[in-house]
Amino acid sequence: MSTSRPSDTVLRSRTVEQVINGRATSDGAGVSLTRYLEAPLQRRLDPFLMLDAFGSDDPKQYIAGFPNHPHRGFETITYMLEGRMLHNDSAGNEGLLASGDVQWMSAGRGVIHSEMPQQVAGRMAGFQLWLNLPAAEKMSEPWYQDLKGEDLPTLTTDSGAELKIIAGHSHGMLGAIQRPITQPLYLDVTLAAGCSLAQKIPAAHNAFIQLYQGSISLAQHTITAPSMAILTTQSDADGVYIEALQDSRLLIIAGLPLNEPIEQYGPFVMNTKQEIYQAVQDFRQGKLT
Ligand code: FE
Repeated sequence: MSTSRPSDTVLRSRTVEQVINGRATSDGAGVSLTRYLEAPLQRRLDPFLMLDAFGSDDPKQYIAGFPNHPHRGFETITYMLEGRMLHNDSAGNEGLLASGDVQWMSAGRGVIHSEMPQQVAGRMAGFQLWLNLPAAEKMSEPWYQDLKGEDLPTLTTDSGAELKIIAGHSHGMLGAIQRPITQPLYLDVTLAAGCSLAQKIPAAHNAFIQLYQGSISLAQHTITAPSMAILTTQSDADGVYIEALQDSRLLIIAGLPLNEPIEQYGPFVMNTKQEIYQAVQDFRQGKLT
């Protein structure tokens, strides 16, 4: 059962800087998805590197999954809204992600893994977010954690917002994951029409909203799903205030920028070209296992 908490007070809300409609593409062995965050926004939304939304009732659009592929230098966070996906990696870890579950993987110096659907029919939907690692941790040991949906901390505010706290903290409650350098906030928010949410966000953090159902009002902007809204980063704002115009669901994602160079080559994100060459070479020589 969800804990009830008094609403945060936000004295001055961030506003909407830009609305992103995403780009339809496919990845893995042919999984259809919409990419909202990619290279041109990586500096603006530092420390976040990528956000993909997938969602289809047609198995042809997801059944091929993501066979073995490498990662180095960042973290991947997979949030399953609906469906079942099996994760396997080169360290021998295996985990089943079902509806509502989250997998937080820190690739560090390298992993090779697969992410494969465990269903032949029905809907598969969710998000994958990439969070950068600070330069000092890019070559650290990889780890991952599977979080069952029912174990995620949840609360309901007295303004009627239902929150799942995947990372960071909200209304005095700690989320499932804490990352001390990038301090990510990752909330899944359910708002019935007419309900509101005031969420504190530190002024220096970059923040965005991923609205995946319904319609909201934010600082006199109306946003309709599906879309991403980049929030202004401004020193005089202490959070964000949202009102639901329809029954809505959204992610609030924020983090402290690293302000370090970003060099990406596919599934490797490092700080210099030399480190990218090294990653490719290590992969080819089988050193990412
Ligand atoms: Fe992957």
